[in-house]
Amino acid sequence: MHFYILTLFPEMVTNALHTSIIGKAAEKGILSIEAVNIRDFTKDRHQKTDDYPYGGGAGMVMQAQPIYDAYLSVADRIGKRPRTVYLTPQGSTFTQPAAKELAQETDLVFLCGHYEGVDERVLEEIVTDYMSIGDYVLTGGELAAMVVVDAVSRMVPGVLANEASAAMESFEGNLLEYPQYSRPAEWLGKKVPDVLLSGDHKKVELWRREQSILRTKRFRPDLLKKAELTIKEKAVYKVHDKMG
Ligand code: SAM
Repeated sequence: MHFYILTLFPEMVTNALHTSIIGKAAEKGILSIEAVNIRDFTKDRHQKTDDYPYGGGAGMVMQAQPIYDAYLSVADRIGKRPRTVYLTPQGSTFTQPAAKELAQETDLVFLCGHYEGVDERVLEEIVTDYMSIGDYVLTGGELAAMVVVDAVSRMVPGVLANEASAAMESFEGNLLEYPQYSRPAEWLGKKVPDVLLSGDHKKVELWRREQSILRTKRFRPDLLKKAELTIKEKAVYKVHDKMG
């Protein structure tokens, strides 16, 4: 899987994404992350990549030409017009199912905006997906691109040491993950639940399922409405279709 991040601040992206689990996966060649510096493609003699908005108003707008040429440099190199995500607060909210879906691609381009945003015409020309990481406004798209690249990378086979951890975690089946504990068995007078020390895998599984449902009910009742629960579970945990 190859990620290409079109940005005015390449060092921000490369520093962050070349560490830890994602960095190791890149070292192993399971994936690659390339920051493409939009400024390298400007034809302006002062290296400018933004200008005033037509119609007036505050702030600057990123111009179409440098972004388009940066995008074409990737498209020409890989021999196709790749799927291209513009990170924007106006896009659809990024979710775990969206991460899984994007992980099916072999090449993904991310466009990071800045200032007041990007000239609409280049968006129309290259963007296939508009994605937001939440209902708030960031100063630039880099942090958003890093969030998406991180979540998508975890779905790429071979990136996680333990693939099962991705299959069991929060949002699988619209449930949040159960609480986790590690050594010691007692800390600050707080004991690890007995069932986890019992060695009885069936009981552990049942306890974890119960905890997942209770947690989702407490923290994300909106998700629980979409979870696949048995009739018995719905009755025991008082889950109704019209839960508030
Ligand atoms: N004027 C734009 C608007 O009102 O929709 C906001 C521009 S924002 C200050 C600058 C850039 O940050 C955007 O072009 C986008 O790339 C990025 N950005 C800001 N908030 C974001 C969010 N919630 N999700 C993804 N990208 C975001």
